[in-house]
Amino acid sequence: MCRNLLDAGHDVICADNFYTGRRANLADLQGNPAFELIRHDVVNPLYVEVDLIINLACPASPVHYQSNPVRTLKTSVFGALNMLGLAKRLRVPVLQASTSEVYGDPTIHPQPEDYRGSVNPIGIRSCYDEGKRCAETLFFDYHREHGVDIKVARIFNTYGPNMRPDDGRVVSNFITQALRSEDITIYGQGLQTRSFCYVSDLVDGLLRLAFSAPEVTGPVNLGNPYEFTMLQLAEQVIAKTGSSSKLTFLPMPSDDPQQRRPVIDRARTLLGWAPKVPLDAGLDRTIAYFRQFA
Ligand code: UDP
Repeated sequence: MCRNLLDAGHDVICADNFYTGRRANLADLQGNPAFELIRHDVVNPLYVEVDLIINLACPASPVHYQSNPVRTLKTSVFGALNMLGLAKRLRVPVLQASTSEVYGDPTIHPQPEDYRGSVNPIGIRSCYDEGKRCAETLFFDYHREHGVDIKVARIFNTYGPNMRPDDGRVVSNFITQALRSEDITIYGQGLQTRSFCYVSDLVDGLLRLAFSAPEVTGPVNLGNPYEFTMLQLAEQVIAKTGSSSKLTFLPMPSDDPQQRRPVIDRARTLLGWAPKVPLDAGLDRTIAYFRQFA
């Protein structure tokens, strides 16, 4: 995101508390006079002068967001309030990174934006799901009450280089395990499905939305509609890495969505966006990146 904005000629202030982000991912931007990196947590107010706000803050891996659930809720809710307050004061657009998790374990498949979801309010995923749902509510109330120019993106599973090897999500887990010849950890029977979007496609979609006309508020699904089971993903990663890893089956975490695939008609129509990088090519690039950690 930072690199794309800088390449397009913008100045960028990047705020990160480094809870899951890593300075090393931005090392090549240090020294660029158009780039400023500040250690900041969105739970606290931020006072800067900018023309556009993109709020991506919140750990997104279940392992990370569940390790400190109250903090996760504060990040989504206080973070949204602080960024909306800043947008209101500066009169600038603000984009919220929402999530397919607002659909919970969906009973409608694939998921269009007008589906209201099937979310457990008291489960182990609720700190993330309900935090993000509350943030969406705040965005639309600031829009209706104060006329703030909002953009809400619902991001589906995304992967690619610069993920942490210990991120805990499925793509980084499977690749790291395959490269180290460790067992591949399948939760449940591995028949649950997901649809994975390569990071460059996602950033392109987010920026199209960020710079869209004020009447485009969203929510807009951003994701790759190509759907597959976690078992298929494991087999593909083993084949691509030539790994001797075996599959091991572990208990399914509670409330783990059984199926997930975005309807992206809205993004196509409003933003002229569709993902371009197929899973095959995206996995090759991601495996090449993870080799340094094996
Ligand atoms: N998963 C798995 N093995 C792992 C990590 C995840 O089988 O080592 C499964 C998990 O149960 C879920 C899917 O892969 O059904 C995607 O999990 P991830 O944590 O990447 O993202 P989620 O979509 O659940 O937030």
